[in-house]
Amino acid sequence: MNSHIENPDVVLIGSGVMSANLGALLRRLDPALRIQVYEAADELAYESSNGWNNAGTGHAGICELSYTPTREPDGTVNVKKLIDIFQEFEQSLQFWGHAIASGMIAQPKEFINPVQHISFVHGAEQVEFLRDRHAGMAAHHFFAPMEFSTDRAKIGAWAPLLTEGRDPAVPIAATKMDGGTDVNFGVVSRKLLGWLADQAGCGVAAGHKVVGLHRAAEDVGRGLRTPPAWEVTARELKTGSERTVHAKFVFVGAGGGSLALLQLAGLPEAKGLGGFPIGGHWLVCEDPAIVSRHQAKVYGQNLPEAPTMAVPHLDQRILDGKKTLLFGPFAAWTTRFLHRTGSWTDLPATVKPHNLGTLLKIAATNFPLVRYLLQQGTQSMEDRMRVMRIFYPNAQAKDWKLVDGGIRVQAIKKTDGEAGIVHFGTEVLTSADKSLSALLGASPGASVSVNIVLEVIKQCFPALLSGPRITEVVPTYGTDYRAPEKAAEFDKLATAARKQLELI
Ligand SMILES: Cc1cc2nc3c(=O)[nH]c(=O)nc-3n(C[C@H](O)[C@H](O)[C@H](O)COP(=O)(O)OP(=O)(O)OC[C@H]3O[C@@H](n4cnc5c(N)ncnc54)[C@H](O)[C@@H]3O)c2cc1C
Repeated sequence: MNSHIENPDVVLIGSGVMSANLGALLRRLDPALRIQVYEAADELAYESSNGWNNAGTGHAGICELSYTPTREPDGTVNVKKLIDIFQEFEQSLQFWGHAIASGMIAQPKEFINPVQHISFVHGAEQVEFLRDRHAGMAAHHFFAPMEFSTDRAKIGAWAPLLTEGRDPAVPIAATKMDGGTDVNFGVVSRKLLGWLADQAGCGVAAGHKVVGLHRAAEDVGRGLRTPPAWEVTARELKTGSERTVHAKFVFVGAGGGSLALLQLAGLPEAKGLGGFPIGGHWLVCEDPAIVSRHQAKVYGQNLPEAPTMAVPHLDQRILDGKKTLLFGPFAAWTTRFLHRTGSWTDLPATVKPHNLGTLLKIAATNFPLVRYLLQQGTQSMEDRMRVMRIFYPNAQAKDWKLVDGGIRVQAIKKTDGEAGIVHFGTEVLTSADKSLSALLGASPGASVSVNIVLEVIKQCFPALLSGPRITEVVPTYGTDYRAPEKAAEFDKLATAARKQLELI
């Protein structure tokens, strides 16, 4: 395993799922590329991508009700977003399937496992909404196997914790689809980076924080193949020693650290950008008698005032080789941008004259969100159990403990700020000369990481996507499989990837 190389073509900042997929894909598409990864923390992928710091749901658009929040004016449920997300997540499965088949990584069960995805609602209005959502989805070949039921016995057979002890007077409904996944994004990142570090001309250095990111003076005399675009300085946190490299391309995949790095780089494209951190907590149950009775990820409707990324769900997870149940996330107020290497000063440190107005406008116009975050952070265990009993009526506090669940830093663009909006999506920001890309925001994020970094490659390394190599590495790339006439072809590729990943 190499930690440092000289004269990298590409520097990736951060070792989360974004950098890991980008580094592995770039090297797979161009085996001559010299790639250096810097990670501030001592271990790789232990921030948002770590298994405990996200829900591990392969967001395939199957169970997440937040993608279809309301009906259309004509009364139908528009499922277009679900179809798009399904196709985007498929690219992750395709690439990871290739990674297994080509020996880049071994043992898929360490990072991906099949689990049924269920949407669960209660009350007559929500039951009718779910019925119509199912009708829209099941008509598309991606979701054809999805089942809908209002029958308690059937829903209880899918997930008994949902129905036991439930008031029989309140109608319930659920959709269920086999073929959903639980993903440990931290493990897949570490595996891909382990492979990258073994490649000649690539290095992965943990414990190295990037503290300098500047345009390099054009200096072909340094022995680089083309004039360098960026000068990157990484500090070894244990010793304080610094090393500087030059690279033609930099990817800022630093999660909560990305905004500070963009400000350091002084990109005009980053002017006015701000960050809004939202902390998270999970309730965790490790009692095998309870865990063994819930083989599903169950998503419900959003709670009023909660941001879409805080829609509660009751999930089976496979973490550290063990089955566990997670319920949440419960949002929390924080000013930290990173768990491991951040501090309470992270938020104030990113407030600059050019984004102050944006942030003040957001604070003033999003009071219900701020109040919600403060209220969430001060909840008692009993408050949290009350939310859980919407899903699992017989839940008892003694079986659950509260754990940290990661931080999401939502990107606030100047235009959003002026409109007073906090967007909960993912933003890719690329410099005009295509020499730097950065990822901001967090949702759905990890699941569609391959799709996101393919977009980065398309913008910054378009030649790598023009040959036949890309469809060896991501077989569904470049074809729109949403069209009905593509159903059979899609099925063949999807089945092959799922076999490689031991999902079927
Ligand atoms: C509660 C919660 C639930 C979620 N659930 C899901 C889900 O179910 N499905 C899904 O798809 N997504 C989910 N997400 C989102 C997902 O976790 C993120 O989109 C994804 O992990 C982001 O990956 P990343 O590589 O951008 O960042 P990270 O994994 O955070 O990696 C960034 C890395 O950069 C490092 N770094 C920062 N600054 C520097 C620096 N200056 N120098 C060097 N290194 C630096 C950090 O230490 C860190 O390791 C969830 C998030 C949360 C918080």
